[in-house]
Amino acid sequence: MIAELVFVGTELLLGEILNTNAQYLSRQLAQLGVDVYHQVVVGDNAARLRAVLSQALSRSDLVIASGGLGPTDDDITREVAAEVTGRPLELDPQLLAQLEIWFARRGRRMAENNRRQCMVPRGARVLPNDRGTAPGLMIPADGDKVVILLPGPPGELRPMFEAHVAPYLAARSGGRPLRLVTRTLRFVGIGESALADGLRDLMATQTDPTIAPYAKVAEVHLRLATRAADEAEGYARIAPLEAEIRSRFGRFLYGSDEETLPQAVGRLLAERGMTLSTAESCTGGLVAKWITDVPGSSRYFGTGFVTYANEAKVSLLGVPEELLSAHGAVSEPVARAMAEGALQRSGADVAVAVSGIAGPDGGTPEKPVGTVCFALAAQGRQGAGPDAAALPAGAWAETVWLHGDRDGVRERAAVHALAMVRRYLLGYLD
Ligand code: ATP
Ligand code: MG
Repeated sequence: MIAELVFVGTELLLGEILNTNAQYLSRQLAQLGVDVYHQVVVGDNAARLRAVLSQALSRSDLVIASGGLGPTDDDITREVAAEVTGRPLELDPQLLAQLEIWFARRGRRMAENNRRQCMVPRGARVLPNDRGTAPGLMIPADGDKVVILLPGPPGELRPMFEAHVAPYLAARSGGRPLRLVTRTLRFVGIGESALADGLRDLMATQTDPTIAPYAKVAEVHLRLATRAADEAEGYARIAPLEAEIRSRFGRFLYGSDEETLPQAVGRLLAERGMTLSTAESCTGGLVAKWITDVPGSSRYFGTGFVTYANEAKVSLLGVPEELLSAHGAVSEPVARAMAEGALQRSGADVAVAVSGIAGPDGGTPEKPVGTVCFALAAQGRQGAGPDAAALPAGAWAETVWLHGDRDGVRERAAVHALAMVRRYLLGYLD
């Protein structure tokens, strides 16, 4: 069954409200195994809505529209859907009686306008609305197709979908709907095209589970998806593919599903019983912020330094002034001295430092905006158990050139700093 979603409302087109019904309905339909091929947003305009609904019925089996069912003049979905399906509107006396009771209970008089909400296309099924006045409608159309109209307010649409539409769709697709089971693999330190290149053979031949890459800020996510009767069956089908991808790119694969990079780094630190400190210049504390966003991060994070001015790098971290004057604040020697200072003064096991040019000003030909130097200093540790290999003591520095505006550079720099800590903890930093 192929579905199309139609969202009615000029306020959606103007960007005044976010189309959360789109995400909700798409997710629900995916879980029910219904393929959504198109989503259309259209304003409160009868001619355009007519065209959209006609097109939807011409190419989809199921059309779900939300919004425009209310009592006001700009609420036209009911009338247009009746017209497009060729079903005259008839007053439903039962609905009218219910609506009168609804208003009476609230001590309000029913407006003449509300009668419109009691008009039902001939042969349509009425979906009761427990939260508002506008009932939903399920209107049969030619060729065993169906148009379902749902109210716009999410608080009314969701319960109506769950109570009436989901069971209908499940029954229609044979009682045992297939659900979408997905696994998201999260990578850092590798670009989308390099990843896709390395998986080209899989992506070309793989139809189930499907593989879809998504580029994020300084990260790439791969979504593996399949349809199955239940989660166990779905994950069983995903597992061999996931293992193959891990064997190729495990070095860059920091986590799966909902796990964020700060969570993954925190997990690695906690597993090893190690602590981290930060020394930040251009990121202004963003790395420390992300680390401490994770509940329980006090187990592995105690001190972060924000040393924006050169004097702060000297006084708080003990960076030698000669290094600053010889190389500039954005340099590997200074980043290294920052990391070593943070390590020493915090007493942590590992310290990461960031110093760069976030822009928009301050770039030079040798050090353009986006130049960021990183360093990591570590006490090192003896191997302890099979999961925790020995880690070397020392300091490492590297420079990268990041793109983006000021926010973009800072965000990418913070990601890189966390990724550097991850690489150290896994023995990949060299
Ligand atoms: P009402 O009876 O409240 O008029 P309605 O079915 O006519 O309901 P609309 O008038 O189109 O629906 O929208 C009413 C409100 O519902 C909007 O102001 C908005 O807050 C919310 N809404 C409508 N469509 C969406 C959508 N696609 N996503 C999220 N919220 C929506
Ligand atoms: Mg309305």
